[in-house]
Amino acid sequence: MTNIVPEFKHFVAGSFASGYADSIKVYNPANGVLLGAIPDGDENLVNDAVAAARAAQDGWAARPANERGQYLRRMAKIVRENTSRLARVVATEQGKVLSLAEMEVFMAAEYLDYMAEWARRIEGEIISSDRARENIFLFRRPMGVVAAILPWNFPFFMIVRKAAPALVTGNTVVMKPSEETPYSAYEFAKIAAQVELPTGVFNLVGGLGQSVGQALVGHPGIDMVSFTGSSAAGSAIMANAARNITKVNLELGGKAPSIVLADANIDLAVTMLKVSKSINSGQACNSTERVFVERAIYAEFSDKLAAAVASISFGDPLGATPVDMGPLINRASVERIGQLVDDARANGAEILTGGSRGEIGDGCYFRPTVIANTNANMQILKREIFGPVILVEPVDDLDEAIKLANANEYGLSSSIFTSNLGSAMHAVNSLKYGETYVNRENFETIQGFHAGVRRSGIGGTDGKHGLYEYMHTQVAYIQN
Ligand code: NAD
Repeated sequence: MTNIVPEFKHFVAGSFASGYADSIKVYNPANGVLLGAIPDGDENLVNDAVAAARAAQDGWAARPANERGQYLRRMAKIVRENTSRLARVVATEQGKVLSLAEMEVFMAAEYLDYMAEWARRIEGEIISSDRARENIFLFRRPMGVVAAILPWNFPFFMIVRKAAPALVTGNTVVMKPSEETPYSAYEFAKIAAQVELPTGVFNLVGGLGQSVGQALVGHPGIDMVSFTGSSAAGSAIMANAARNITKVNLELGGKAPSIVLADANIDLAVTMLKVSKSINSGQACNSTERVFVERAIYAEFSDKLAAAVASISFGDPLGATPVDMGPLINRASVERIGQLVDDARANGAEILTGGSRGEIGDGCYFRPTVIANTNANMQILKREIFGPVILVEPVDDLDEAIKLANANEYGLSSSIFTSNLGSAMHAVNSLKYGETYVNRENFETIQGFHAGVRRSGIGGTDGKHGLYEYMHTQVAYIQN
């Protein structure tokens, strides 16, 4: 099995920058081995990157949209041709299993092609005026220079998810990857260089949130911040962006509830919830964290869920034996989730399976866990877990489930399992969440719309509506 050789350089104004001291260490979460160190950028780097993006923006926006789309198609082709190697980079630095990493890279290529298709479909409007001999035109214009700040959980897909709609609509981009997973981003920058994107159209700056991230968000040359990450960082970013009245698009944390009614296909619900916990070790913003189950089926359901979750195998994603899930991103995550589980245990929770660190060498593993008998004193009921842990709670009926699901500050994903269409529609109409999945796993699609409300974010991504986030509407009143 070939090992990847991780590499990172900033990419600014069409050149891979050197001359920065490597100060941020990056580890393989599967075994604790040091992969390398990357440079932390500074204000000068951010200034250079924003200046390059600014200088390139008018020229880029002036090109026919289809020409911009062609660059995306060329990138998609290179991504597809290199799927195996790119997936290995993703799996090594982030810890997801290889099949999921391959899916992530495949989705990135699909996303580039999908956004390229929009090049010929960006529409304005003509509105009838109250005045004679006048037309009102609405034009869609690019925001300008977009600062994109990324989390670590889907390090290759997330770059594309922001870069593709931004670029096709005529924006230029300054991208900051997570300091935990910089290498996938560097691979993307190399592809941008390979297709000869015009100088300054795409820039990559590495570093910490506190250094590069803050300098970027607060920079007066930025027209929009597109951020995916925690609600705490989102809040700080919004405050920082407010200084220059910079538009923000925020995809933040979640605490997805699922409702399982007595008339549901129980085996389907169990399988889908197991998938939700094993995909990326539960480190997905829409991964189900709480399940509300109608009392009549609670015992049967919780037994089956515990058995299914206990059967999730875990280990090194690039090891000789295939596993269902890999490690968590780092030791801090293992500690944080361990503390939430310990707090629940101390307050009377029943651990149906798992509940402790998965001891495999120096890897960052946590056992797939199901917890019952929860109560309002437990931190785990309120905080985002972001790991392979799920809570199961009995309810009297659908209305109680909806009430409990809504009694939460997050509002990203939610789901319901039922064979009754009326119950499903009532849940869809009543859940205060940006997304509701019915009788399936929480997993958004390219052409849908991924958006959280309340503390889960502002605006959304994917599909037509996600694309339009990267444009503003200009109106012209024209007398003739
Ligand atoms: P994080 O907030 O710790 O970091 C995300 C990025 O923000 C990193 O690049 C970091 O360097 C940067 N950053 C941190 N503070 C900053 C600041 N003050 N200014 C500028 N940049 C700053 O998040 P994470 O741990 O990388 O990712 C996990 C979180 O992301 C979870 O809460 C998860 O729910 C959320 N997430 C949400 C979605 C979604 O679509 N809603 C998708 C994936 C992940």
